[in-house]
Amino acid sequence: MAKVLCVLYPDPVTGYPPAYARDDVPVIKGYPNGQTVPSPAGELGFKPGELIGCVSGELGLRKYLEANGHELIVTSDKEGADSVLDKHLPTADVVISQPFWPAYLTAERIAKAKNLKLAITAGIGSDHVDLKAASEHGLTVAEVTFSNSISVAEHVVMMVLSLVRNYLPSHQIANNGGWNIADCVSRSYDVEGMHFGTIAAGRIGLAVLRRMKPFDVHLHYYDPHRLSPEIEKELNATFHETPESLVKVCDVINLQTPLYPSTQGMFDDKMFALVKRGAYLINTARGALCDRDAVVRALESGQLAGYAGDVWFPQPAPIDHPWRRMPNQGMTPHVSGTSLSAQARYAAGTLEILQNFFEKKPIRPEYLIVDGGNLAGTGAASYKLT
Ligand code: NDP
Repeated sequence: MAKVLCVLYPDPVTGYPPAYARDDVPVIKGYPNGQTVPSPAGELGFKPGELIGCVSGELGLRKYLEANGHELIVTSDKEGADSVLDKHLPTADVVISQPFWPAYLTAERIAKAKNLKLAITAGIGSDHVDLKAASEHGLTVAEVTFSNSISVAEHVVMMVLSLVRNYLPSHQIANNGGWNIADCVSRSYDVEGMHFGTIAAGRIGLAVLRRMKPFDVHLHYYDPHRLSPEIEKELNATFHETPESLVKVCDVINLQTPLYPSTQGMFDDKMFALVKRGAYLINTARGALCDRDAVVRALESGQLAGYAGDVWFPQPAPIDHPWRRMPNQGMTPHVSGTSLSAQARYAAGTLEILQNFFEKKPIRPEYLIVDGGNLAGTGAASYKLT
């Protein structure tokens, strides 16, 4: 029998389950690179479209785990030595967490987790796990690669349009009973004809480029590895050798690189000084890619016309985090990758990983981040041990 400790975000303040706006979600069979969606055996334990990413939703895992004699602890209490997470960690075999409400598995916590064998990220992005410590302790770390990449790409497009067209302030004016058109439009532009660039053109960055193309923008990208000539031609995209070269010419910049020590604070005062005045920056990758206060300064000086994203550091962001109140921003909590549609995929992927683990079958390489004492699968391609 294994003990599975699952850390999920809290239930809706209005209670669980919520009243659902729709009765179903479309069935997605595969991803743009040919990878198939998760395919766990047997029943899912939830109906796709249900809210399962929060505590009461339990990722739909209870039925499967208890039917197989395992114990499931689900909590949102993850901070401090007296937290439910810390109380159960020393006896847990498996920890499941989500980037939206990350259970930071630090080296100290991993050292205390004597029974821990598997850490699953229900979603994508395992930088809340100390991967070096995980590999030294022989843990397997896995995530549900591609499960919410398109969800995030859609969110990026939404944020581009909402910033450039000044949607949020205009909506606020309407909400407040106002009708001053000039106030609405004095910061409103068309996206058409702008130069749009993404820093990193991986799963999400490439999906964003493909979604921006029909807006008749000029596409740019930087990535350590150049896209194929076919894709460059399809997108008519300009490749830049450095992020600095890209930010000098783009009106809208999308940040989509993973967080490594080398990318932390990539957007600092120095980088903002290079950015074209009045550019917009979108960041759904990781908050710590940007210097928190440099972003505020760039917005206040007008160097940036707008900033939007759903990622912060730390998470949840403290109440006095300056990104909550800085001007011309469209910040949300970390939500882009946890739409009800995305939850169905990453919960199914979590179940598939658990089934493989318990049945001693190989976990798909695309889901593996750390295994056998080193980076593995997607981890070997997308992460660094530092
Ligand atoms: P991928 O691994 O598919 O793509 C990442 C890309 O970044 C790769 O093309 C990689 O290049 C490139 N890259 C590596 N190093 C650098 C660098 N120093 N500068 C610029 N680019 C670099 O990841 P995804 O597209 O799936 O996800 C990207 C990030 O988005 C994740 O790391 C995660 O942090 C975040 N994310 C956020 C979510 C949310 O809910 N907001 C949900 C999912 C992910 P190469 O491989 O060619 O070396």
